[in-house]
Amino acid sequence: MNENCDILIIGAGISGLTVAWKLHQAGRDVRVIEAGRFAGGVMQTKSRDGFLLETGPFNVMVRDVAFESLLDDFADEIGVITASKSAGRKRFILRHDRLLEVPSNPFKLMTSPLLSSAGRLRLLRGLMFSTPGRDEDSIDEAAARRFGPEVADTFVSAIVSGIVAGDSRKLYFKSCFPNLARIDHTTRSPLGYALMKTLTGKMNPHKRKWRGLISFENGLGSLPAAMAKRLGQHLTTNARVESLEPNAIGYTAHIQHQDSQSTILCREVILATPLLAASSLLHDLSPVASELIESIATTSLVVLNLGFDAKTIDHPLDGYGFLVPRSEKDFPLLGVLFADSVFPHHAPQGKRLLRVFMGGPRDPEAARRSDEDLLAIAMPHLKRILGISGKPSLIDICRSPGAIPQYATGHDAKIEHLNSLISQLPGVHLAGNYLEGVSINDCIRNASQLAQELIACTPPPTEEDHEPIEFMLSSIPEVSKT
Ligand SMILES: Cc1cc2nc3c(=O)[nH]c(=O)nc-3n(C[C@H](O)[C@H](O)[C@H](O)COP(=O)(O)OP(=O)(O)OC[C@H]3O[C@@H](n4cnc5c(N)ncnc54)[C@H](O)[C@@H]3O)c2cc1C
Repeated sequence: MNENCDILIIGAGISGLTVAWKLHQAGRDVRVIEAGRFAGGVMQTKSRDGFLLETGPFNVMVRDVAFESLLDDFADEIGVITASKSAGRKRFILRHDRLLEVPSNPFKLMTSPLLSSAGRLRLLRGLMFSTPGRDEDSIDEAAARRFGPEVADTFVSAIVSGIVAGDSRKLYFKSCFPNLARIDHTTRSPLGYALMKTLTGKMNPHKRKWRGLISFENGLGSLPAAMAKRLGQHLTTNARVESLEPNAIGYTAHIQHQDSQSTILCREVILATPLLAASSLLHDLSPVASELIESIATTSLVVLNLGFDAKTIDHPLDGYGFLVPRSEKDFPLLGVLFADSVFPHHAPQGKRLLRVFMGGPRDPEAARRSDEDLLAIAMPHLKRILGISGKPSLIDICRSPGAIPQYATGHDAKIEHLNSLISQLPGVHLAGNYLEGVSINDCIRNASQLAQELIACTPPPTEEDHEPIEFMLSSIPEVSKT
């Protein structure tokens, strides 16, 4: 089967789906090709034995108008729900094999056993007055300069491991947290800045429709599923784009289906795949861009969804979960989320659901381990820390190898260089979590921006616009029409 379209989108994760949906809404002729069985990429939800199991992301913060606008299109269908406020407020950090509650504000930290007296004094000094940041700072350097090495080691390393499963000493502050880095570059007193923001915030309240962490009634996977449904015949799953070849009007995509092959001829192509797939598709078009993408490091994550009878767990699981700072050197888990405390409907009555994270720099081999090995590593620690007496009644393990890009120092310059190389390939565009933000919110913002740029520079196709494509299709010898 051979087809043509105006804009081809490769990959139906949330990045690809967002560009496709926005372009489709604006009347553009789009086609989405997805290698997996379902749309959504890593954003998938399973339902089993009364549990709702997120195999990738668990919840998301709506920080951008682009995300709000996407939710406006789908909220009625998927039902937006917010995380339990009490669970969200109570978080734990593992310290010397005990779970200690994270103080909810910097002042409560002054009495927390999480810091030594010297560490507390250093934090207090940093809150009042500290040196603004430097362009080349890692996250760890920025935190230690502001608030002292103890805060960087205990809190910041744990939080970073919870957000991007990475090592805060190797990650580039400016690329991972651009807004915070901007404030850090210009502010002398963090406390003064916070006070000023509170005051001006009260005078100019920004009414957000969805606040805090959210999910959907049937889990995060219901958003990509709803988007795929509306895209209908414009989306094909179980089809992998193997290569891209330039032609006189744009590109020919060679596609491998389960039992057949096909081609699509398009004017524009958006690569919305994970970075290694994007690098491979660009290999012949721009070897330098391909190498540049490949040079971005990634880390792997494994999520163990473990369901238990409530009576077999001593700990009340009355919070969001716990994270593990790098100082807990021999602990093999990145963190544990108390899933049904955050979203009660994720576990049936009388059951509890733990979401255990392994991998990242703590265990780079985790995604290659067998289910038995992962459980053998995790269970003794879960039993000790949470007082678990029984075996899990439900086990669901999902591996995401190389799924989380790690923005190292100089990432912004690398992306600038990459963008300039891609701009030399007319009609080629990139979307995905290795460019400018890993979170779902970031992916949606960047994909929406790309869609807007394309809508601005390409008018909707008319009937006549298809003629040159049809003509080219028949004139290219290796692309024969069926
Ligand atoms: C375990 C885990 C937990 C996370 N937790 C959170 C969280 O709680 N909150 C949050 O905001 N973010 C979280 N993230 C990050 C966020 O979910 C991802 O960064 C984001 O979903 C990536 O979306 P994407 O569309 O860019 O890529 P992907 O979801 O990877 O989608 C890319 C798609 O491209 C397809 N593809 C690849 N090659 C080809 C090809 N040749 N032809 C056709 N299709 C192809 C793939 O099959 C895939 O479907 C988490 C990520 C993981 C892995």
